Amino acid sequence: MTLPDHTLNDGTTLPAVGLGTYGLRGIEGAEAMAAALGEGYRLLDSAVNYENEGAVGKAVRMSGVPREEIRVTSKLPGRHHKKAAALIAIEESVLRTGLDYLDLYLIHWPNPNQGLFVEAWEAMIEARERGLLRSIGVSNFLPAHLDLIVEKTGVAPSVNQVELHPYFNQPEQREADKSHGIVTQAWCPLGKGSDLFDDDVITSLAEKHNRTPAQIVLRWHIQLGTLPIPKSSSSARRKENRDIADFTLDDADMDKINGLTKPDGRLFDADPATHEEF
Ligand code: NAP
Repeated sequence: MTLPDHTLNDGTTLPAVGLGTYGLRGIEGAEAMAAALGEGYRLLDSAVNYENEGAVGKAVRMSGVPREEIRVTSKLPGRHHKKAAALIAIEESVLRTGLDYLDLYLIHWPNPNQGLFVEAWEAMIEARERGLLRSIGVSNFLPAHLDLIVEKTGVAPSVNQVELHPYFNQPEQREADKSHGIVTQAWCPLGKGSDLFDDDVITSLAEKHNRTPAQIVLRWHIQLGTLPIPKSSSSARRKENRDIADFTLDDADMDKINGLTKPDGRLFDADPATHEEF
């Protein structure tokens, strides 16, 4: 049994679960990512600031999986939001991977105080037109940021990757994404492990469905309609994280998990309205 792909607003597709790659670097990182592709993962989530785009490209080549079956994501850092700098940064990302194109590129953070994200978005549109990127999207964009880039360019992102886990499930953000036809990807989908795996709601559902806490949380993402990108350096845990197609949470289960969210549930106190990364 497999989970259905997401079809993006530009007609391309993404798998239901991707692999987060933060911290997977160097040869060991490349080997872990190649192993993940061998296990069936088809989406690798990288970023310029993870300093692992080279390892991602190496993993794609090592895996033996046909290139067109794989989706590689990277992200534009805040220090390159000016249009000319953004275009070169995108070219450098593609060159570092050693691939001919990237499947998805995101503006990593809007950095609203810096105020250049519309320019960065224009660069992304041009890079897609030039064939460097197949799909373009954003990350950590609040509803107002989305509205502004759509108003200025007429082009909606295909993806918005935001912090999303049971302690911070972002209903308003998900609605705003949906209103633009944007797929919401979930970063820290497992809440980084943290206390979530010991939460009574999660452990009791794990017992009920004879699944692990991580599987309960990831199944919740699937039924919520978000695209989780859990990171794991362990083959066993990576397999566990994709083995979620053959059970279903009922409405009461979903309500219980939805009830865990808190207004201050962000794990890193990084509110995109004020937090900036470069
Ligand atoms: P996460 O995926 O929520 O959690 C990863 C942690 O959980 C790791 O310590 C991992 O340890 C552990 N883990 C994974 N599967 C497990 C399982 N089945 N059972 C028990 N523990 C498990 O957190 P994350 O890595 O911070 O987020 C995921 C990805 O989102 C990142 O890798 C990155 O690609 C992306 N991200 C994006 C942004 C952004 O601003 N756009 C920000 C943060 C992250 P092991 O490796 O030892 O298994």
